[in-house]
Amino acid sequence: MPQLIAGNWKMHGLAADAVALAKGVVAGAAGLPCELLVCPPFVHLAAVAQVLAGSPVALGGQDCHQAKQGAHTGDISPPMLRDVGATWVVLGHSERRQNHGETDELVREKVLAAVAAGLTPIVCVGETADQRAGGQETEVVGWQLAGSLPKPFAGVVAYEPVWAIGTGKNATDQDVATMHAFIREELVRQFGDAGQEIRILYGGSVRPANAGSLLAVPHVGGALIGGASLKAEDFLAIARAAQRG
Ligand code: PEP
Repeated sequence: MPQLIAGNWKMHGLAADAVALAKGVVAGAAGLPCELLVCPPFVHLAAVAQVLAGSPVALGGQDCHQAKQGAHTGDISPPMLRDVGATWVVLGHSERRQNHGETDELVREKVLAAVAAGLTPIVCVGETADQRAGGQETEVVGWQLAGSLPKPFAGVVAYEPVWAIGTGKNATDQDVATMHAFIREELVRQFGDAGQEIRILYGGSVRPANAGSLLAVPHVGGALIGGASLKAEDFLAIARAAQRG
């Protein structure tokens, strides 16, 4: 299966910036050894969808509500994401877990709603610096996987150590190898053979300079990229470092 290189644009850029960035990504997207995905802010999804039309670059949301519709001021439903052309959605990002109090149970409900609407979820898990310092990283990630993923699970997992997000401190190749092997074991324990097929992305300060070695670590099925996805040339350089599936 090809690696997935996904850009999470977070709350950056006005409409013109989003369109320009999307055009830059599309311009370099042909012939890459991986799948490409961009996740702009909700308000730019429609404009970016127009730029991506007919290109190999997929569109995703950064979150969604767990209900199809209803009185949920400020929220976006999974069918709304599908309607605007998204086929993916990032769920349970640590910024959502920390800043919006999202629990594993809520993430699980969102995953179910996203899949029911025809979206492929990318479910983020990862430990904080304190949890790693206390030697609890695998325990924490194990609980997050058990709590956030419904059975069966038709999606992708992203291991994103919280201490590596936006800090410039990426996990070492050895940290990633250890955690991805643990996640693979957990997925097989939870889902049997199907757990072998679930892609596990790494996220946390991925840059063109470290992408080659991180993407070559066993069980790494791609990358989820924040900061470096805001420059088309950096995002594409990371994509060029992907392992051919
Ligand atoms: C992210 O927020 O998912 C992320 C990995 O960010 P960054 O690449 O900036 O560390």
